[in-house]
Amino acid sequence: MDFTLSDEQLALQQSVRKFAQQELPDIARQIEESDEPASIELRRRFGELGYLGVNLDEQYGGAGMSHLDAVIVLEEIAKISIAVAFPVFESCFGPSLAIAHFGSDEMRSRILPRVCAGEIVVAVSMSEPNAGSALTDLSTQARVESNRVVLNGSKRWCSGAGHSEAYIVYCRMDDIPGAKGIGAVLVDKDSAGFSFGKRDHHMGFRGVASADMYFDNVEVPLQNVLVAAGGFGKLMDAFDLERCGNTTMSLAVAQSAFDYVLEYCQVRQQFGKSLIDFQAVQLQIAEMKMKLEASRLLLYRAVVNAEKGLPSIAESSVAKCFANEAAREVTGKAMQLMGGYGYSKEFPLEQKLRDAWGWGIAGGAIDIQKVNIAASLVGRRFNQRAK
Ligand SMILES: Cc1cc2nc3c(=O)[nH]c(=O)nc-3n(C[C@H](O)[C@H](O)[C@H](O)COP(=O)(O)OP(=O)(O)OC[C@H]3O[C@@H](n4cnc5c(N)ncnc54)[C@H](O)[C@@H]3O)c2cc1C
Repeated sequence: MDFTLSDEQLALQQSVRKFAQQELPDIARQIEESDEPASIELRRRFGELGYLGVNLDEQYGGAGMSHLDAVIVLEEIAKISIAVAFPVFESCFGPSLAIAHFGSDEMRSRILPRVCAGEIVVAVSMSEPNAGSALTDLSTQARVESNRVVLNGSKRWCSGAGHSEAYIVYCRMDDIPGAKGIGAVLVDKDSAGFSFGKRDHHMGFRGVASADMYFDNVEVPLQNVLVAAGGFGKLMDAFDLERCGNTTMSLAVAQSAFDYVLEYCQVRQQFGKSLIDFQAVQLQIAEMKMKLEASRLLLYRAVVNAEKGLPSIAESSVAKCFANEAAREVTGKAMQLMGGYGYSKEFPLEQKLRDAWGWGIAGGAIDIQKVNIAASLVGRRFNQRAK
């Protein structure tokens, strides 16, 4: 096994890092202060640089590179902030990849080039007020009527809600209860009858819009069906790749917190010496480094083994779960090592900790990932509803 990045990948990493460090910190600060999402100008800039749809086919405007290349790009941008990186995350690991793998040629050609150019962001909307971890309880209806689909229901916690131009909406397309009746439909933001509730304000994730979404007889053309009823398995297969994006975001937040505090510990003096000269501090730093390395290797394994396809549920769940927990631990330790400065909003660590926490809820709670991991070990799903 070769764990080294190629010369091309190292060059890619260097160039994205240089761009991110030069151009993104001020934008990230404004987004954090205003809580307003990344502008279309920034998205277009990402598009020009080839940072959107890194792992989508060139035929659809992507860079035609590997998932690992996409991880490299996303990590460097997300080290600045997850909010600036969100359009990159969505285009490389979000529902656009479900469209690339399971959409019709017509849908791919219509949507993906616009995603890669930064003209639109496609968000994923699965969760509902009464269907979170129990996703297969979702009740938003999509009724097929000759050449159109009519949606009714409501959604919650969609990242991008009200800001993204299009949504992949998981819905019940058949009367069969549970997973079998679930499919997914693409809905444009400006569809008649589609509306948004008041903006949610999370503890972190500032600049990532979220709101309830309401569908009141929303009509979309039949060609907007991404997968019909019975295709829930495909949606979950695509979601295995989304988990790798979630892992990358967790890793980036933790890595950037670590880089900052490692420098800080060498500069900050107490009792007449640098913090790093205290053995208790050295142990914290070593433990953080170990968690980061392990997160990175699990992530690389999941995406490299997927090649151009989709990763396995086992490898993507192990990577996500581990990196989610590591990010919480590393950002917490980093904040503590900075004492009062870590807790102050004048320094970046408190934001890192707030952002880190959310990734262990988004994309499926940590304990749900652990249930997936155990299921994959014994080769069967566990019935969470059994009394
Ligand atoms: C920052 C953020 C971004 C998000 N973005 C999106 C998005 O873009 N699109 C979208 O559709 N959704 C999104 N979500 C929603 C997210 O997917 C759900 O919050 C998540 O699946 C958990 O559902 P819930 O909040 O209803 O919690 P619940 O399902 O009520 O679970 C609460 C807790 O109970 C425990 N639990 C529940 N069931 C079990 C079980 N069977 N075994 C063990 N423990 C269990 C878990 O610890 C869990 O954390 C986002 C959430 C956050 C916080």
